Amino acid sequence: MGNIGVLPEHIVNKIAAGEVIERPSSVVKELVENSLDANSSMISISIKHGGKSLIKVVDNGTGMDKEDALLCLKSHATSKIKNSDDIFTINSLGFRGEALSSIAAVSRVALLTRNSSQQAGTEIEATGGKIKSVKEKGTPVGTSTEISDLFFNTPARKKFLKSERAENASIAEVITTTSLAHTHVAFKLYKDDRLIFDYPTCPHLKERLLSTHYHEWVKYLLPLDIKSDGLTLRGYFAKAELSRINRSAQLFFINKRPVKSLPLSYALQRAYQGLIPQRHFPVAIIFLELDPTVVDVNIHPTKREVRLQNEKTICEKIVRHVREVLYKCDHSPSIFHTYSLGKGKNYYQKSVSEPFDFKEIQEKVKGRDVYPETAKGTATSHQMAKEPEEAMWFVDTEKKLKVITPLGQIRESYILAETEEGFIIIDQHAAHERIIFEEILTSLERGTAASQALLLPATIQLSFKEAQILEEHLDLLIAVGFSITNLGNNTFSVDATPTLMGNVEAKDLLLDFLHGILEGKGKVPLNDRKENVAKTLACKSRAIKANEKMSPEEIEYLINSLEKTKQPFTCPHGRPTFIKLTISDLEKHFKRK
Ligand code: ADP
Ligand code: MG
Repeated sequence: MGNIGVLPEHIVNKIAAGEVIERPSSVVKELVENSLDANSSMISISIKHGGKSLIKVVDNGTGMDKEDALLCLKSHATSKIKNSDDIFTINSLGFRGEALSSIAAVSRVALLTRNSSQQAGTEIEATGGKIKSVKEKGTPVGTSTEISDLFFNTPARKKFLKSERAENASIAEVITTTSLAHTHVAFKLYKDDRLIFDYPTCPHLKERLLSTHYHEWVKYLLPLDIKSDGLTLRGYFAKAELSRINRSAQLFFINKRPVKSLPLSYALQRAYQGLIPQRHFPVAIIFLELDPTVVDVNIHPTKREVRLQNEKTICEKIVRHVREVLYKCDHSPSIFHTYSLGKGKNYYQKSVSEPFDFKEIQEKVKGRDVYPETAKGTATSHQMAKEPEEAMWFVDTEKKLKVITPLGQIRESYILAETEEGFIIIDQHAAHERIIFEEILTSLERGTAASQALLLPATIQLSFKEAQILEEHLDLLIAVGFSITNLGNNTFSVDATPTLMGNVEAKDLLLDFLHGILEGKGKVPLNDRKENVAKTLACKSRAIKANEKMSPEEIEYLINSLEKTKQPFTCPHGRPTFIKLTISDLEKHFKRK
C-alpha cells in the first residue's frame, strides 16, 4: 500500500485558514467583503477583546436561502464564479470560496440569514467547521455572521496574536480603508459594546474622509482625475507639507479593492521628488479602475497584492499629472505650522505610532447626531454642515511668491522680505541651491550651457567604480558645461567647468559629484537621471552659504531669480526655501481678530 493519503476536508480547511486568516482583522476583512459583495448599504461590525472573543458582522444585503447558507461554510463554495473564465473577469471582492470555510474551521460560527424570497431566516451554528444545529428563525433580510473563540482549536496561532490594542487598531484600519472605497455604504464599529465608528452613507469620498481619522487631510488634498485608454485614475494626493515618515498614508485601490503596490508608491515618490524631505513619503489616496482582465488578483491569498499588466504606463501617468499639479501649488509653510510640526504634536506624527486613538474618536462620535438606524442612502454627514464648502475643500493651486520689498538679512543667513500676503523669511542657501538646480536642469534639457576653460587642465585618477559612474554620466556632464577627456586607465582630464557653478576647484567638484551619485544610488531607485545630476551638482556648487554677508543687489538678484523658478518652495533636497507669515496670522496672534 502506498504512503499517500488525501487529507480530509476539515484538515485542508485548517491549513487554508492559516493562509487567509492570520488574525482577527482578516476575519473582519473577509466578512465585510462578503457583505459588500451582497450589495449591502449598511454594515455593522461588533468586536470584543480585539476580535479574539467575538466578531459579529451584520448587513442588510441580499442574504441567503437555507440551501446556500448550508453550503457557504464548505470550502470552495462560492456564488461568484461559475467557470474558469470568470476568474479573469472577476468584479466582486471575494471569489475563491475559501473565506467562510477557513474561518469556520478555526472558530465557532453562528450564521443567521434570510433572503427576500424566504419567509423565515436560517440559523446555523458550527464549531470547528462542523455544523451543530440548523434552525428556522425570524430575521430581517440580510446576514449576520458571528465568529467567537477564534483559533480555539489552533492554540499555537492563538498564542501569537498581538495585544488587544494592536488587534483593535488593525480591525479599525481594515474598516476605515474599506469604507473609503464604498462611500455609499454606512459602516458602524462597536468595540466592546461602545460605538466607535459611525460613518453614514455619503455621495463622495471627501465626506467619508471627514468621518474617518483622515479628516485632517482634507485641507491639503488635490484632486486626481484622469481618464484614458480604458483606465480611470481617481482620488486625491496631498500637498507636499503633509508628507509622512512612512508609507502608511498611501492608500491604493484597484477596482475598489485595497491593495499594496510598491510600483505605485515609487511613482508617487518620484512625483514628489525635491518637494518633500528625504525619507519622507507623500500622502495620497488613489483609486484605479481598469478592465479586470488586466489585473491578476490571484497572486496573493488575501488578494492584498495584485499584478498589473500595464503598470509602467499607469505609473508614468501618475507621475506626470501629480508633478504638474504640484508644481503649480503654493508649498511654503506658515511659520506657525512649522512651529507645531517641530514640537512633534502634529496629528499625523502621533498617528504613526498609534493609528487609532479610540477615546478621541469616540468623543467625536458622541458629539454628532446619530443618524437614523434605518436610513438607507439618505444619511447626511453632519460634520459637513459645520463648514462652508470652500473653506473645507481647500485646493490652492496658485503659485505665490511675489516679493514687494526685500527688508534685509538676518544673522547673515536669512533674508526677510515683504510680500503681498505678509512677509517671508528666506533661507539664502536653500534658495540659491534651488536657483542653481533649475539653471542646471534647464541647461541639461537644452544642452546649451556656458563653460569656462581652466588655465591648467586638471588630471584626475579615479577608482574603477568612480570611472564607471563618470562614463555613465559623461553625456550629461558635457551638456552642463564640463569638458572632460578620457585619458585611459581610469584617468581623465578636465579642461573646462560649467560657468554657472562659479569658481570651483574642478577636481574636487568632480569627485564630490561622483561620490554624491554613488551615495544616492539605490536609495531613490526611480530617480530621474537629469534631475539627479542637477541635484548633485547644485549641492556641490558655490551656492551662497549661511553666514555670508550679501549686498542689497545680491539679495535682490537672489529674490528675483527665486521668483522665476518653476518651483520656488523647496531646495532640491525637499527642505523649504522660505517660510511665510501672513498678515492675517499676525492679526490673530496680536489678538486683533
Ligand atoms: P467568496 O466570497 O470567495 O465567494 P466566502 O467563503 O467568503 O467565498 O463566501 C461563500 C459564499 O457565501 C459567497 O460566495 C456568497 O454566496 C455567500 N455569502 C457569504 N457571506 C454572505 C453575506 N454576508 N451575504 C450574502 N451571501 C453571503
Ligand atoms: Mg468572501
